[in-house]
Amino acid sequence: MSVTAATSPAVGSFHLCRRSPGPATIPRFRMTVRSTAVYLTPLVTKLHKDCATPLPVLRHVADAMAADMRAGLAAEGGSDLKMILSYVDSLPTGSEKGLFYALDLGGTNFRVLRVQLGGKEERVIATEFDQVSIPKDLMFGTSEELFDFIASGLAKFAQKEGNKFHLPVGTKREIGFTFSFPVKQTSVDSGILIKWTKGFSVSGTAGRDVVACLMEAMERLGLDMRVSALVNDTVGTLAGARYWDDAVMVAVILGTGTNACYVERVDAIPKLQDHVSSSGTTIISTEWGAFSNGLPLTEFDRDMDAASINPGEQIFEKTIAGMYLGEIVRRVLLKMAEEDALFGESIPEKLATPFALGTPDLCAMQQDTSNDLQDVGSILYKAAGVESNLSARKIVVEVCDTIVKRGGRLAGAGIVGILQKMEEDSKGLIFGKKTVVAMDGGLYENYPQYRRYLREAVTELLGDDIAKNVVIEHSKDGSGIGAALLAAANSKYRDYDL
Ligand code: ADP
Ligand code: MG
Repeated sequence: MSVTAATSPAVGSFHLCRRSPGPATIPRFRMTVRSTAVYLTPLVTKLHKDCATPLPVLRHVADAMAADMRAGLAAEGGSDLKMILSYVDSLPTGSEKGLFYALDLGGTNFRVLRVQLGGKEERVIATEFDQVSIPKDLMFGTSEELFDFIASGLAKFAQKEGNKFHLPVGTKREIGFTFSFPVKQTSVDSGILIKWTKGFSVSGTAGRDVVACLMEAMERLGLDMRVSALVNDTVGTLAGARYWDDAVMVAVILGTGTNACYVERVDAIPKLQDHVSSSGTTIISTEWGAFSNGLPLTEFDRDMDAASINPGEQIFEKTIAGMYLGEIVRRVLLKMAEEDALFGESIPEKLATPFALGTPDLCAMQQDTSNDLQDVGSILYKAAGVESNLSARKIVVEVCDTIVKRGGRLAGAGIVGILQKMEEDSKGLIFGKKTVVAMDGGLYENYPQYRRYLREAVTELLGDDIAKNVVIEHSKDGSGIGAALLAAANSKYRDYDL
């Protein structure tokens, strides 16, 4: 889509108009535009300027990410980035054998999965999974009720184990538990829930070991299984991707929220005092959503943050992740409606409603290639209750693109920051050969423009030659099988000949 500055008198004219509701004393400008191009209203121009991510900004973000990682590794609380130890020291190698289960609780659904692993030659012999949605009332109930429900889902699934799956005599079924809520990990198979997020408000779990909660529920049911790994979705994704490719060093989730983890050398973690890792490496969950240094932010970001349940926190996440991009765009459009009468005289209630516009709406609008932007019009009407003409639709698409471009490019800069930090510590081992970043999450998976902007930023920062060595690979639902593989890698029976 072409973009033309509206400052030239040849391309647009302003009408003074007055509208209600709103302070009647403030004159408002409305712009009449021709239909062939997007004209930059002062608000669009300002948005472009405030959201700009030229190379120096990207470089600053990458450098600051690397510096914050170091500070978070040096001391507990040393930086915005918590740099949480996952206690996962052994990643899958491909030689894992046996039957393993995974349980993935990350949002409104939980998934159960079983896999029969056959070692280097046979790899995944058989796999099956099931998905169960969590009844709304359990999201607000007690810890026992929630974990009883999960354990009974697991029990039902385990009962259906067919003859493709084999458990050696004298061993228990082992589970990798992916639990994507803030946890203070205490060992590879235990961790304390700090707080519920994502709409969960279950009483009695915060402050407790979630593995113990699950084990107690299994005991109440007489289900004799053992949790051998507790991980979050980034660590699960890293493990799932590493099983197939030794070059995987980093995993990133770009979904509702965002996080990244990577393989770190134990001797590069000063805050770690008495941790022994036979591999000499361990997985660090950066918790990079909390990064905030030098981000190009707008009044819309600041207002959204102030109205959020966690003001001042998770600023990187609020700039790049799926939960927020639609809301930022809605706030921009609301201001344009109020000040430029973008959608005519009145402002529908829906447009003024937080989170009325979702990131999937932005994505759908950006895929509209029709001349009259019909889809953009109907999505705007459905989601925000606004009637729009073609010029307004073009401005809307331009706003979506500006916010998504900033998000994708900053995510790319964050990835480069992690790789840069790793390269500085191990000259040539990251940029001198193929290095894979495993990626998962609904935003990355579904939003082609976001993916493209992310990749472009990586290439701009690294230059063509080095960028060729950095492969960003979509590892769809890798975290489920990754958790099962970590159960295998951390199995109690690891040294048995199964
Ligand atoms: P989580 O596991 O964190 O809930 P997912 O990885 O399932 O997240 O991703 C869901 C998120 O992905 C949604 O919140 C939304 O922001 C984003 N998303 C889903 N579908 C699309 C789409 N079609 N276009 C853009 N973003 C999408
Ligand atoms: Mg997820």
